[in-house]
Amino acid sequence: MFEKVLIANRGEIALRIHRACQEMGIKTVAIHSTADADAMHVRLADETVCIGPPAPQGSYLNAQAILSAAAISNAEAIHPGYGFLSENADFAAMVEEHGFTFIGPSPEHIRLMGDKIAAREAALKAGLPVVPGSDGPVESEEEAKAIAEEIGFPLLVKATAGGGGRGMQIVDTADNLTQAMNVARREAELSFGNGQLYIEKFLSRPRHIEIQILADAHGNVVHLGERDCSLQRRHQKLVEEAPSPALNEVSGRKIGALAAEATKKIGYRSVGTIEFLYEDGEFFFIEMNTRLQVEHPVTEMICGLDLVREMIRVAAGRPLPFTQDEIRFRGHAIECRINAEDPANFRPSPGRVADYHAPGGLGVRVDSALYAGYMVSPFYDSLIAKLIVHGANRNECLMRLRRALGEYVIDGLHTTIPFHQRVIGETDFINGEYDNRWLERLFDRDE
Ligand code: ADP
Repeated sequence: MFEKVLIANRGEIALRIHRACQEMGIKTVAIHSTADADAMHVRLADETVCIGPPAPQGSYLNAQAILSAAAISNAEAIHPGYGFLSENADFAAMVEEHGFTFIGPSPEHIRLMGDKIAAREAALKAGLPVVPGSDGPVESEEEAKAIAEEIGFPLLVKATAGGGGRGMQIVDTADNLTQAMNVARREAELSFGNGQLYIEKFLSRPRHIEIQILADAHGNVVHLGERDCSLQRRHQKLVEEAPSPALNEVSGRKIGALAAEATKKIGYRSVGTIEFLYEDGEFFFIEMNTRLQVEHPVTEMICGLDLVREMIRVAAGRPLPFTQDEIRFRGHAIECRINAEDPANFRPSPGRVADYHAPGGLGVRVDSALYAGYMVSPFYDSLIAKLIVHGANRNECLMRLRRALGEYVIDGLHTTIPFHQRVIGETDFINGEYDNRWLERLFDRDE
């Protein structure tokens, strides 16, 4: 096993990785920007290296500085967390070229899944159903029109290199097709330096259901069940739960097994998430995320497993310590992403935490790097805490979540806690009856 791991991230996920390492007896190296000198992950790590200025380009995205920090601290492996360099195939390759282990999949798999057309083809070949759409890139207007005629409207023009909901345009009628393609192309060129597009049928009321995968380097693959991440605003997930209220045990296990089988065919190693849209009883692959997800704790809560520990073990070449049959799913878990944002309009609300009290008690988990006096910086993502609650069933989970949200004190800045309190009081949410557009409809009702 590794003796020392460098954590190439910040915030709650850096702390999450540090905790797993500590329990495994692995020393940690925290890297940080000058803005994060007082951060909790820096305070708790065994060693720390300041790698640059507040702006991520000079620090958390600065591959050279991170590799230098790994070299001077004698770390053997680098855990990228999520965001920043976690899905950068060139970075993963550089890490390996410099003699460190990248705690994640191979650079080839990161590259494959980062290209949405290639990912779609790989998924199809591995036996997964995909959203009806173009076979490969769409170059011309004529080509787009022919495909549109085949699959019908509304459709979605998507950027091959897209991510975070950018480079995507909904098209309702043939008249808008050209304009939508131009907008999507320009956005994708600006954001990703690649304007290549493809077309998919637009599903009007799907649910976002994803399968957590864990695979070792010896060909063993398991799935850890599904997560329902349909509560989204502008394609950003805000609440996640497991299992999905839309599936029963049989349909959940079936899609899980299919995803695990596909992962095995692709030859993937590490944790990964296969994302599907689910509508009218049918699943459609949309993408695979080749990293640890923000919402991984809901899976951990129902499986009783430490995903970060397993991720580190498989990166060190160890075989999975359990088979699919040995994985037991227990109860229900929900995660609320708490952001430093004004709950009325979701505008960022950085500032100093004046007072802090995290909820606790049976079945309550808080993944956060906050403390009283901590300065929430405007330089980074506004996610400041994840409240994860586990219950014997969904009802108990909801009751506990209501209680825990009511207990949470984060004074000195706006947070999205009131937003979550509202959502979990909505009848549709209580009944588990929501889709990807449900939140948008809730806000439209306000206007
Ligand atoms: P990104 O990489 O930008 O996150 P995804 O392909 O994962 O893009 O899609 C993000 C979200 O956009 C999905 O969770 C879903 O809400 C919506 N979406 C994507 N494809 C479709 C589609 N074909 N029909 C309807 N909604 C879609």
